[in-house]
Amino acid sequence: MPIATVDPATGETLGTFDPMEPGEVEQRIALAREAFAGQRVSGFADRARLLLRATDLLDEDAEHIARTMTTEMGKPLAQARAEAAKCARTMRWYAARAEELLADEHPAPTDVADSGAARVVVRYRPVGVVLAVMPWNFPLWQVVRFAAPALMAGNTALLKHASNVPRTALYLEELFRRAGWPAGCFQTLLIGAGAVEAVLRDPRVAAATLTGSEAAGRAVAAVAGDEVKKTVLELGGSDPFVVLPSADIARAADTAVTARVQNNGQSCIAAKRFIVHTDVHDAFCERFTARMRELVVGNPLDENTDVGPVATEQGRADLEALVADALSLGARALCGAARPPGRDHGWFYEPTVLTDVRPDMRIHREEAFGPVATVYRALDLDQAIALANDTPFGLSSSVWTRDERETARCAREIEAGGVFFNGMTASHPAFPFGGVKRSGYGRELSGHGIREFCEVTTLWYG
Ligand code: NAP
Repeated sequence: MPIATVDPATGETLGTFDPMEPGEVEQRIALAREAFAGQRVSGFADRARLLLRATDLLDEDAEHIARTMTTEMGKPLAQARAEAAKCARTMRWYAARAEELLADEHPAPTDVADSGAARVVVRYRPVGVVLAVMPWNFPLWQVVRFAAPALMAGNTALLKHASNVPRTALYLEELFRRAGWPAGCFQTLLIGAGAVEAVLRDPRVAAATLTGSEAAGRAVAAVAGDEVKKTVLELGGSDPFVVLPSADIARAADTAVTARVQNNGQSCIAAKRFIVHTDVHDAFCERFTARMRELVVGNPLDENTDVGPVATEQGRADLEALVADALSLGARALCGAARPPGRDHGWFYEPTVLTDVRPDMRIHREEAFGPVATVYRALDLDQAIALANDTPFGLSSSVWTRDERETARCAREIEAGGVFFNGMTASHPAFPFGGVKRSGYGRELSGHGIREFCEVTTLWYG
């Protein structure tokens, strides 16, 4: 895939970038390692000052970077602005909280005495240079979600961003440089996926974090495993959205629309499979489909657009193939399942609701990365939970019920990194985020996220 900005709303190539030569990549790795020597002995207060300076700059640049993101990957402009604001909030949160989250731990005095030590301290020390392989769907957020905690912990960062968001990738490097972070603390590597392995095998690179598809995660984790380097994997999802009879059906259906089409349907934690109890199935479908039809599909720079284009031509082709497969095997489209009429340029696709979906259809097992919802009818709670778990993924989930027994069962039995009751899935800097099963391992955000890129060190004093 060439490294290029191609506007998904028009298909026009706005800029291409030469990949960095191996020599330049090597210099950047060396600089990252050198910078780490300084960062590991710098204090939290210094790093917090630099992160807050970057946050202020990000606030000033919000409109510019929002437009850059929209032009590179097609998200509606208002959502791009919201993404920039969320990044700023998260950077401030880590600037304020990192020291407390990584404070020394002191084992119980009886255990210390039992070990024969005078004193024992458990300390979180930074791992070193962390390679981040990131996707295009939240091009600022995915990076900040990793970089804010990693830098606050005292690591340095190398970013290999998705090849279709090079301007956002370069902006991020500039942002940290302008904020005064020492050279080498945060660098962008303009390289293709094929060049990742060599970087990861470099002994100066300590660990990697990857957000992206299962295939990319498997490739990077295999190399990291071979090198015995730690990884965090945030991979795909096919989150269930379970609606049970005691729920507020109107609110569930309205939220379902946002949960499915946010970011043009290209969010890992978007609700993708709607599992609805038979008693409320038809009422839910009617309202959900009506709302999906009302959405305005169009130029993501227009303020009244709800759904912009799919980010790449291949992405739309993949989505169309999933829908065609389902329809050929007996699924029914309640709306959409087509390109919007009159849009000859760009990679638009109509918000789509498919029903009568069966396990032999590809869309039952694979992630639909675009504005396509599948609706299932469940006869009871057992079947709803079984359907929710009948997926290789386990990122997050949403359950709509007012029944305490149902709530308790779903909290226990749904196989996902998060279960959100009567609301749509979301991330927040204070709460851990990550998946189970093929959605990956490790956690981002919160104290769990910042500790992923720390070595837990036992200091024993005799
Ligand atoms: P992708 O194709 O896997 O790409 C993600 C990143 O991995 C890109 O930088 C890509 O580089 C790189 N990459 C791809 N194959 C690689 C390989 N074999 N070795 C090393 N690097 C490789 O995914 P995407 O299409 O950008 O993003 C969509 C996917 O990300 C969806 O599955 C979505 O659910 C998932 N996602 C997960 C989360 C989460 O938090 N769990 C969040 C957002 C997105 P190139 O661009 O150069 O190919």
